[in-house]
Amino acid sequence: MTLTSHVPSGPLDTAWDRHKSELKLVNPANKRKYTVIVVGTGLAGASAAASLGELGYNVVNLCIHDSPRRAHSVAAQGGINAAKNYQNDGDSIQRLFYDTIKGGDFRAREANVYRLAQLSVSIIDQCVAQGVPFAREYGGMLSNRSFGGAQVSRTFYARGQTGQQLLLGAYGSLMRQVDAGTIRLLPQREMLDLVVVDGRARGIVCRNLVTGALERYAGDAVVLCTGGYSTVYFLSTNAVNSNATAVWRCYKRGALFANPCFTQIHPTCIPVQGEEQSKLTLMSESLRNDGRVWVPKSSDDRRAPKDIPESDRDYFLERIYPAFGNLVPRDVASRAAKMVCDEGRGVGTTRLAVYLDFADAIQRLGEDVIRERYGNLFQMYEEITAEDPYHAPMRIYPAPHYSMGGLWVDYNLMSTIPGLHVLGEANFSDHGANRLGASALMQGLADGYFVIPYTIGHYLGSGGFGAVSTDHQAFRDAEHAVEENVRRLLAIRGKRTIREFHWQLGRLLWDRVGMARKADGLRDAIDKIRALREEFWQDVRVPGHGQEFNKSLEMAGRVADYFELGELMCRDALEREESCGCHLRDEHRTPEGDPKRDDENYAFVAAWEYAGNDTAPRLHKEPLTFSNIQLATRSYK
Ligand SMILES: Cc1cc2nc3c(=O)[nH]c(=O)nc-3n(C[C@H](O)[C@H](O)[C@H](O)COP(=O)(O)OP(=O)(O)OC[C@H]3O[C@@H](n4cnc5c(N)ncnc54)[C@H](O)[C@@H]3O)c2cc1C
Repeated sequence: MTLTSHVPSGPLDTAWDRHKSELKLVNPANKRKYTVIVVGTGLAGASAAASLGELGYNVVNLCIHDSPRRAHSVAAQGGINAAKNYQNDGDSIQRLFYDTIKGGDFRAREANVYRLAQLSVSIIDQCVAQGVPFAREYGGMLSNRSFGGAQVSRTFYARGQTGQQLLLGAYGSLMRQVDAGTIRLLPQREMLDLVVVDGRARGIVCRNLVTGALERYAGDAVVLCTGGYSTVYFLSTNAVNSNATAVWRCYKRGALFANPCFTQIHPTCIPVQGEEQSKLTLMSESLRNDGRVWVPKSSDDRRAPKDIPESDRDYFLERIYPAFGNLVPRDVASRAAKMVCDEGRGVGTTRLAVYLDFADAIQRLGEDVIRERYGNLFQMYEEITAEDPYHAPMRIYPAPHYSMGGLWVDYNLMSTIPGLHVLGEANFSDHGANRLGASALMQGLADGYFVIPYTIGHYLGSGGFGAVSTDHQAFRDAEHAVEENVRRLLAIRGKRTIREFHWQLGRLLWDRVGMARKADGLRDAIDKIRALREEFWQDVRVPGHGQEFNKSLEMAGRVADYFELGELMCRDALEREESCGCHLRDEHRTPEGDPKRDDENYAFVAAWEYAGNDTAPRLHKEPLTFSNIQLATRSYK
């Protein structure tokens, strides 16, 4: 299989405009004749569905939640990047482009990233027009703060609730179209298979999560916006309901899965407290604008933080990376925190934590200013830990947070299955081996508001397909496969809980394909995952029935997919014999211990093709060429 990215040739800065002018169009009267199925109502899904509805397409929009507003995007805290240069501090489209490519350790496609930086500017205007209450300066201008991997302030925010406010904006637009009759909204539906007819994505099979009934939906194109898969690790900052099932089932129908091992470990999360937890809580990266990260200089130092004088503290990020200080990118900050904890200098009862201290900022700016900037985050921290971060430093530790990997897409955001488009965190597109903070919201909204409305028209306008009804044999086969999977899970009636299996898989992945990876650990993990997967299919207990609301059944299906995805993550990490971004291979370090990239042999996107449950997947490579940026060793020192 040849991977064709469809990146336009010629100068980068005019590529998207040229491409748009060459894309096919669907005339307004014909748009309503096309049905587009949009799966997901997060920022990517809601913005796509609203925009396609507004254009006049007939849209079916589904999600697993009881309301589109519960999509995980609601949890995004810190902000959204845009190259507006409101601060007059030297920002530009070129700089956002460069920071993103460099932040991703030169493992992203140049043309996609440049387009993203260009579109970032329009996103803010769109959201302001919707009434999103971004923070403002006294004079009315939109306010900005800084995020990791940048030396400018380009992050727009609404306190620590940016995702919620952006989602309310997108939801308003979505509901306008529901009211106008262009969107049929179907909550509490879980997509469990993709239907492919004559090689094209023509529909989906879902389970109605309230009644348990299986439902078929046919369309002319499918747009998948189902979010990320960090919950494969069990403990992550993602919502417990986040999952990989939709992308995984599409992979099994022929869509290639790109860079599955690139998962982001976020440096500032509330540390793990014990085995009863169901998730971890993020403390936004925005806190590193004012919080200083430190540990005691000595591993023997057990004093309370307030009793440790400045001279006995190691502000290790400021020390090692003076140019970026506490605002180094996430992969760099996470590795540094792990390193000081591995040296025995971690704090708290588990010694797997570092301090994030606001004492300086409070002294300089006053408690009120800090409360205004981060009040809800401080409150959340106090509710969870029973410690007051205004008076004692927060304790934080890295945790799984975001998946840069996802289904492979071309420049038009189409997967290797014609008609199946993938947006937002579910695709692999723009962040390379490490995503910069505040750029996921930017990407999801760029995809939904500004890319798919053009590229889907090109796909539909190119024609070549006739009507397909849900009676087609391909729908019956897909439904039968789903039914069979559900029946198999319910029939096991074993002794162990779904949670036990997920916990065990998650901890194994965290150890072996988490912050650091090495060949023997990865090989061993593959064997262990397979053994655990076999045990799961023999001994898991899924209570209840299929024809009812059954949370256990939902979770069992997702965990079954995680076993297969977890194995692919290990394979991908094993294959990539270099360190890049989030992917630190212990064998590939410089003499100083820094990650060592291998551009000669690994400047490619790894795209995996499913070859059967017990057959090794096939690796395809999309070479990455850099003609506008010079490949360089990433340095934040
Ligand atoms: C705690 C936290 C804070 C964050 N803060 C920021 C930030 O400040 N800035 C930033 O840029 N990024 C941030 N991120 C990342 C960002 O929030 C996400 O990457 C982004 O919101 C993902 O949007 P999405 O639309 O792709 O997916 P989601 O918002 O996860 O939406 C997925 C949708 O798909 C639906 N769905 C899933 N599976 C199925 C299925 N099988 N069938 C049917 N429907 C399905 C769900 O119901 C949902 O509607 C944060 C992430 C976390 C976890």
